[in-house]
Amino acid sequence: MMNREQNLKELESKAFDLLVVGGGITGAGIALDAVLRGMKVALVERQDFAAGTSSRSTKLIHGGLRYLAQADFGLVYEVGRERRIVHALAPHLVHPDRMLLPLVEKGNYGYWLTLLGLSVYDLLAGVNKNDRKRMLSKNETMRLEPLLRTDILRGAGFYAEYRTDDARLTHAVLMTAAKHGAVVANYTAVEGFIYDNQKITGVEAVDEVSGRKFNVSSRHIVGAAGPWTDELRRKDESQSKSIIRHTKGVHLVIAREKLPVQHTVYFDNYDGRMLFAIPRDEKVYLGTTDTPYSGELTDPKVTLQDAEYVLEAVNAMFPMARLSKADVESSWAGIRPLIEQSGKSATAVSRKDEVYESDSGLIVIAGGKLTGYRKMAERVVDRVANKLGNKKSSTTEKVQLEGAGYINYNAVENHINLLMERWGHIILNQKTATYLVHTYGRAADGILELLPESGTNEEKLLSAEVQYCVRNEMVVTARDFYERRTARLFFDIGSLKSNGDFILSALARELGWDDGKISREAANLAKEIHRVTSFSVGE
Ligand code: FAD
Repeated sequence: MMNREQNLKELESKAFDLLVVGGGITGAGIALDAVLRGMKVALVERQDFAAGTSSRSTKLIHGGLRYLAQADFGLVYEVGRERRIVHALAPHLVHPDRMLLPLVEKGNYGYWLTLLGLSVYDLLAGVNKNDRKRMLSKNETMRLEPLLRTDILRGAGFYAEYRTDDARLTHAVLMTAAKHGAVVANYTAVEGFIYDNQKITGVEAVDEVSGRKFNVSSRHIVGAAGPWTDELRRKDESQSKSIIRHTKGVHLVIAREKLPVQHTVYFDNYDGRMLFAIPRDEKVYLGTTDTPYSGELTDPKVTLQDAEYVLEAVNAMFPMARLSKADVESSWAGIRPLIEQSGKSATAVSRKDEVYESDSGLIVIAGGKLTGYRKMAERVVDRVANKLGNKKSSTTEKVQLEGAGYINYNAVENHINLLMERWGHIILNQKTATYLVHTYGRAADGILELLPESGTNEEKLLSAEVQYCVRNEMVVTARDFYERRTARLFFDIGSLKSNGDFILSALARELGWDDGKISREAANLAKEIHRVTSFSVGE
């Protein structure tokens, strides 16, 4: 299922109906949709799963107020409905999150537009009665978020969205696909295509860990390569024109005590853009930017200019915070793979997805959002199903993701309480119980069964978590664990600094690393910590 060596053998020896190139949320969604329709499915990812844009977003499953402002009702309806569905598919991972939209003098959203907008939004998106919007007076807004700047404040809209962990959502979708028979492998790159009569019949792949090259045969191939879409299309000889425009967005993480907001706040900046301040446990993350980008795609940097822009915007709306660069504990930058629309600015380019097919049969899907991954997948897989004569339609709306098994968010809270009852006096506190359930859902119980006899509580939990992730979630490098399986690099960097060596030795035991490998991983960890805590000059 998630056994990499076994899966590599299967990739080489089997023939597939569909091979997906790219293990971000888009590729993961496609693999799941297709395998549930009975297709033989493979997916290869050049880096780790979700290492591209799908671990670097704002991490919201949101309904697109901005599309409403652009009067794109079709898109508001689709993403609005999708929020509800994605929440139901993994309530532990996609939590309800109340948002505050302060209405300010000369802001993007006036009272009547917001009232109308949020009402239409409630209606179009089928929002539950309890979660429907409320319009707040200035005083109510100040009571709710006392740190907001008051001189320009007029009131606020208060409405419901969902927050997630993008990398974990991608993994949950992939693990569900693998459970249903999809053969998936990370660190496996597509280097070229194989043709028969000018039609693509497979790919030349390379296992990035061993360097071994092999071929994979498949009747159809879908590229879901995000920012690398044009690069992949160019490997197919029938392609040349660029379809993607890259823009960069950054986020900064600070301690919640530096900006103790109670809710996610979606606020105006002086330049007409909107930013988020999003509480996540003991941290708050701030973002984002949207600037044209032509630099390196794999590990884009947060520049000094990016950081100053975000901090200035936050300080303008929360003057008492007086944030400075020294308050930034961690950061990340992501690249939006937007469909090229010449003549439009970075912010004005549509976030819609598009499907393209080359003369040689390579299908690629690009653009879109995390929130809309299921519908994007459905559209592409419908096309493939049509070619295969497969009459089944998408069932992803009804298949809960791995780790789920909750009827709603109350059931998630009950699970946290149950864990506290059983393990609270032995090892867990409310914070660790919540972390385990929000991260692993039902699998949290299995992790606790793996606790070793000796060590501090923190070490015991870490050992069990490492063991679970290596055995079930295809961890290959330490970074897979501390950045994408657990997001420690972003939201718990203090514990990563103090427990880094312990994590590396636990991984070394599980993965059979020698001393040389451990030293390389230790150097890499130091490099990563430096990368997310410092700002570069230039792109
Ligand atoms: P990726 O996640 O980049 O996946 C593509 C994968 O293809 C990569 O992992 C790459 O390694 C792999 N690949 C490329 N070439 C090859 C090859 N030759 N062989 C094998 N593998 C290959 N959306 C929301 O809904 N909510 C948000 O809050 C939100 N916020 C955002 C904030 C920012 C700053 C950004 C940048 C985006 C945001 N988005 C948001 C959009 C969302 O993150 C993206 O639309 C989504 O993650 C794109 O996923 P993807 O799978 O298409 O691309």
